[in-house]
Amino acid sequence: MHQIKTLSNRIRKNTGVDSIRCYQCGKCSAGCPLAGDMDFTPNTVMRMIQVEEKETDKKLLQSEAIWLCLSCEMCISRCPMEIDIPKVMDFLRQESLKEGLQNKSANHNIIPFHQSFLDMIRFTGRSYEIGLIADYKLRSKKILQDITLAPQMLMHGKLPIFPKAVKNRKNIKEIFKKTNML
Ligand code: SF4
Ligand code: SF4
Repeated sequence: MHQIKTLSNRIRKNTGVDSIRCYQCGKCSAGCPLAGDMDFTPNTVMRMIQVEEKETDKKLLQSEAIWLCLSCEMCISRCPMEIDIPKVMDFLRQESLKEGLQNKSANHNIIPFHQSFLDMIRFTGRSYEIGLIADYKLRSKKILQDITLAPQMLMHGKLPIFPKAVKNRKNIKEIFKKTNML
């Protein structure tokens, strides 16, 4: 029973990534542009998954590292085992939200942005900056930050007022449903 519940098993089942293939060479962390700011470097994240301990799983889901990852894919391009760390990070973010274990520091700005971005895609299927900004400001409670930039951007046509949704929004809904995205 414990085996089914470990993060390692859930990651394997949902992303196809087998953490045991990582042999801790550290090349991912050496190339990661955010490794210096992360509480756990990418190879440490892989090691934490490998140990299959409940407390370690929890620590990982509470970490800031999973929210700092940019999905730049530098790690996977350097990994001799082609381990898809960005995919793992993405899964960990969703698990963290589902279990209510969000990192406190990321909760102030990164997580509100993450959720606003996903909502923008969920409802329009594409980029809609005004909606994204408004939603982010409400979630992060930073209503007035950068407000003076808005008139200039509107004047220069950088921000379309109305969203242009993709034609088949049903497909977008299906993707969110299939991936259990919050
Ligand atoms: S580069 Fe690949 S094998 Fe090496 S530590 Fe990172 S994930 Fe593991
Ligand atoms: S995808 Fe994430 S973990 Fe990998 S190199 Fe980029 S920021 Fe680092």
